[in-house]
Amino acid sequence: MSNIEDNYNRLLDRILTACVASNRDPRDIELLAVSKTKSVDVITQAITLGLVQFGENYLQEAVEKTQQLQQYDLHWHFIGRIQSNKCKLITDEFSWVQTLDRPKIATRLNRLHSKPDPLNVLIQVNLDADANKGGVDRVGAAELLEQLLSLPNLVPRGLMTILAKSTDSRAGYDSVAQLHLELGRQFASDLSQWDTLSMGMSADLEDAINAGATMIRVGTDLFGARNS
Ligand SMILES: *Cc1c(COP(=O)(O)O)cnc(C)c1O
Repeated sequence: MSNIEDNYNRLLDRILTACVASNRDPRDIELLAVSKTKSVDVITQAITLGLVQFGENYLQEAVEKTQQLQQYDLHWHFIGRIQSNKCKLITDEFSWVQTLDRPKIATRLNRLHSKPDPLNVLIQVNLDADANKGGVDRVGAAELLEQLLSLPNLVPRGLMTILAKSTDSRAGYDSVAQLHLELGRQFASDLSQWDTLSMGMSADLEDAINAGATMIRVGTDLFGARNS
């Protein structure tokens, strides 16, 4: 077995165990393979195992990979900081943007999007007010969601978060899940697919699953330590 296959099997075990512990169906948890810094070869090994959802943070690096892997039917998720002059490239190369946190970027993505299927977006929230990362607070999330409902080329699918290292992951993920639920209720009549809660990484995916994550984003525990 390749290293990645071993890692993948261990991950599936962890997901299963977490689901059993929190009474959830493993089919409701999507694994996003975070492939930043990893080569096309390594990604191809993951594709061979059946993985189809990949997350990338750095646009230039990502575009090389999406183009080299065009023969596969993959879903690419942008999970890095969004620069406003890169919006066109992002909508061209990705089917999901998980790090939306500014109205201006939403407007641009909507205007520049030119594919037949709308772009799936997640609002990045930063409820622990960590200055080192992007994301909006509760009020900002509601405002952004309201704006998204008027943008026909974007589909708001849910929330994404990265917790500060100092935040208790159980409590931190619970509050994001709670906000996801509240926004879903508040905008119920206008939302078509408010079904995604992207949270949990290698170190804390169990806590995220317990809190209700539907998508966990795993890099290190799938591909090994990152090349710098
Ligand atoms: C790098 C990264 C991950 C993966 O983190 P690991 O700890 O390596 O699993 C998940 N989400 C985001 C936004 C990232 O930048």
